[in-house]
Amino acid sequence: MYDSLTSRYTFACPRRGESRVALSAFRTLEPLLGTTHPVVYQVRFACPCGDEHDSLVSHDELDWAPLGLDGRLFLNLMTSRLEPVASELGDLAAMRIQAGEWPWSFFCYPEERPRPVFPSSFWLLAPGGGSLGLAVRCPACSRISVNLVSHEHVDVPFHNDREIGVVDHVFPEDTHAAVEEFRAELWSASFDARRLALE
Ligand SMILES: [Zn+2]
Ligand SMILES: [Zn+2]
Repeated sequence: MYDSLTSRYTFACPRRGESRVALSAFRTLEPLLGTTHPVVYQVRFACPCGDEHDSLVSHDELDWAPLGLDGRLFLNLMTSRLEPVASELGDLAAMRIQAGEWPWSFFCYPEERPRPVFPSSFWLLAPGGGSLGLAVRCPACSRISVNLVSHEHVDVPFHNDREIGVVDHVFPEDTHAAVEEFRAELWSASFDARRLALE
């Protein structure tokens, strides 16, 4: 479902059969209630056909597949062993993370600090004016922040915008109220620029 060469997810489309979209085409992500392990996310995405559709994405596909850690195996003829097909890519990702680089990050407004994050903590995405409004549920304090980022910031692991916009607003815990405020605030709010250095 995720192709790490093109950084695209393949989903069913009722009109086209299937469509390939980047993470930035996602509009909402919600963990599916009732699933335990592995967690499955219900995703609504903007399809190239013009409609939005729902699909399901596993936690692995959200957080690990873009890093090349998708668990496929191949037979290494030199060692006669089964090895992960993407082990080199995955090793590289692991090395970068150990060196303090994060594949994704965001600015937590209630905590007033940048934090590393994985796509499974992304909640709402809305494009506009060449940028992307991104609501993130903080993995540390579990409160919601809204950042204004580039599409690459979301789609390309280890691409972190040097500066991002931060909506100067604390969003409510209640999901429905927060969705309404996200839509209302996003393109009317003033954004403060924050640096995303994860020191
Ligand atoms: Zn479609
Ligand atoms: Zn936080």
